[in-house]
Amino acid sequence: MAELEIITEGDPRLRQKASRVRKVDDDVRKLAQSMMETVESTPYAIALAAPQVGVLRRVIVVKLPAEEPEEAEEGEEPEGPVELMLANPEIIRSSGQQTGIEGCLSIPGWIGEVKRAMHITVKARDMSDKEVRVKASGFLSRALQHEIDHLDGVLFVDHVEDRETLRYEPFDDEDDEDAANPDTIGQTEKSRSS
Ligand SMILES: [Zn+2]
Repeated sequence: MAELEIITEGDPRLRQKASRVRKVDDDVRKLAQSMMETVESTPYAIALAAPQVGVLRRVIVVKLPAEEPEEAEEGEEPEGPVELMLANPEIIRSSGQQTGIEGCLSIPGWIGEVKRAMHITVKARDMSDKEVRVKASGFLSRALQHEIDHLDGVLFVDHVEDRETLRYEPFDDEDDEDAANPDTIGQTEKSRSS
């Protein structure tokens, strides 16, 4: 399985609507697997949508490491690692609000402040073509909203209300944990990307 090339802003495919997957078959599983491997081998990447690798199908992957205790929301246990591969993800419920910094692997180096729902429920198909529901809050919720947007040709910069928060902050050292990454998204000032 190969690592895929990530396309960047200016490529018209990032602005197109991706088609629904009729059935999660070997082709879709292979695509999702390659996308996951691409996330794993890209510094700071935590998620990817198929249009970002030039494939206009409704498939996303998310891989979040376990939360550090200090990252957990007040009064809550840190969340465990998350690994999701979903076809036709659709937000069926959302509530609350959060504001945080996002970046995007398809807009390298740029980050900006985006408002998102705090809690969402996503309906999707898993890799066995079964219908699943994923409930997410906080950072995972943000990552899912960012990726689902990609399936409709929407980029995080479209949501940046205060253009002053939009800035170029490339990560220049792969060992610098604080560096910001495109297609990485985060709630901290300097963050991970998606
Ligand atoms: Zn993105």
